[in-house]
Amino acid sequence: MTFSARFWRLFLLYAALLALFAGIVGAMAAAQMAGVWFGLVTILWFGLGALATWYAVAQVTEPLARLSQSVRELAKSEDGKPPSANAADEMAMLSADVEQIRRKLSRGVGELQTNAEHLQAVLSSMREGVLAVGPDTTVMLANDAGRELLEFSAAEPQGRPLLEVTRVRPVYDAVQDAFAEAEPIQREFDVVGSQRRRLALRANRLPGNPCPGVIVVLHDVSDIRRLENLRRELVANVSHELKTPLAAIKAYAETLRLGAVNDPEHNLAFVARIEEQAERLHQLILDMLQIARVEAGEETFDIVDVPLREVFDECAAQFADAAAARNIELRIDSPGEEVFVRADEEGVRTILSNLVDNALKYTPAGGHVAVRATPNHRFVALEVQDTGIGIAEKDQARVFERFYRADKARSRELGGTGLGLSIVKHLAQAFGGTVGLDSRLREGSTFRVSLPRVNAT
Ligand code: ADP
Repeated sequence: MTFSARFWRLFLLYAALLALFAGIVGAMAAAQMAGVWFGLVTILWFGLGALATWYAVAQVTEPLARLSQSVRELAKSEDGKPPSANAADEMAMLSADVEQIRRKLSRGVGELQTNAEHLQAVLSSMREGVLAVGPDTTVMLANDAGRELLEFSAAEPQGRPLLEVTRVRPVYDAVQDAFAEAEPIQREFDVVGSQRRRLALRANRLPGNPCPGVIVVLHDVSDIRRLENLRRELVANVSHELKTPLAAIKAYAETLRLGAVNDPEHNLAFVARIEEQAERLHQLILDMLQIARVEAGEETFDIVDVPLREVFDECAAQFADAAAARNIELRIDSPGEEVFVRADEEGVRTILSNLVDNALKYTPAGGHVAVRATPNHRFVALEVQDTGIGIAEKDQARVFERFYRADKARSRELGGTGLGLSIVKHLAQAFGGTVGLDSRLREGSTFRVSLPRVNAT
């Protein structure tokens, strides 16, 4: 039943009662004149009462009807349909509308919750650090990567001042600048915490006036910058390495041109020097190409079961003369025929010959070089031990780097490129192996390369 029907029903009932009462009072008045005025006053009084009641009730039902209409609008479903209920019963309609609104609201809250969960999942799977900072520079949001990169001191940084949760001042400065400027702020800086890192930052104001906050995105660019430095260093090293033999070739050629070509005593020696330097350049370029291919993963290895005994025997034949010429005792203990490693055969040869070549180069006459293979459970350790000049402790970790020479003068004098051990390391790693070194200055060195063993149980 509608509000107005309710109202009119009540009003009519009230009017009928009033009329009945007026009739009775009228009859009484006809019988006793003295009561006429009393009757009239009573009728007037009740009439006014009825009017007042009508006005009061109308005051309530009007807004109620409007409220019912608004609720109906709110309760409409997405396609604009109101909930079905008997249109004649406004109370039932109102209750159906309220129920519909309740359902809509709980659906909305559910969707909001799901969106928040999705956002959280996206933020926590990002490698970039994301930070939202409010106008009072308190942290509104920080993902896991952001907390890690800035080494947050608090487990729950939300609502706390940025400077209280991280000591990384450049982030705070960038946030302040982002609030002050319309353009995004881009910076790069070092962070020295438990780990040294180089971070790239971008801070953006959120739209709105007054600005509701700043979003900061952080990238760890340490690896990229390190690789850039390595590349720069490599270019500098390569230029340096090429410069020396080229300068020597130029100088000998010039000397020959300026007359030495007619000096039968020295001309051939100069030509031999040119050849030597050209050979050094050639070796350098070959080594560089090989290392570049292994590093880039372009070298195609033929990974097979390599019989170590054969490789050792070949090595013994290859270096026997060189060892004898330098008066060094070269002892090669070839392993049993059953010892195989899983690798590229040419690669294993390169590893062994680089190590033996070094051992012979850096061992003075009268010294000893021993080569052996020690199989264990999963690996075979190839060991090259010498009684040579040894390597100082500070250089031991670096001799496997490209162009690093512990004894620069000797290496150059012996025609070394500074790349041999770097090639050994890259090859060993490409075969799933490792390299190691024990050395004492002036006593000798043992280089160890472990390669995966075949049929290891
Ligand atoms: P190089 O061509 O100069 O020998 P490597 O990469 O093979 O380059 O070796 C790097 C440096 O390690 C050498 O310059 C040398 O100083 C040191 N080194 C390598 N092997 C030995 C060794 N057996 N004994 C002493 N020093 C060595």
